[in-house]
Amino acid sequence: MNLTQEQVKGIIGWLESHWGPDKKCPYCDNTKWLVSDKLFELSQLRGQFPTEIVRMPVATVTCTNCGNTVLVNTVITKIDGLEGGQK
Ligand SMILES: [Zn+2]
Repeated sequence: MNLTQEQVKGIIGWLESHWGPDKKCPYCDNTKWLVSDKLFELSQLRGQFPTEIVRMPVATVTCTNCGNTVLVNTVITKIDGLEGGQK
């Protein structure tokens, strides 16, 4: 799913208020991060032959130096249009 510029700005604002300014990458100390304009999902598989899949919508936040990628659950960020997905 593509994110709107407003949704990306919302995620960046949420990160600034919850991570604080100039958050360092834990691996390389870089403070520059990139928020993708795509929304991804993590899927929980159940049993050998999954008949029901639980999905978690996640935004990716990537360190621009080493590529470390952090997944942020958008159910928690409560950005407009991204708060669903716990089915
Ligand atoms: Zn890094």
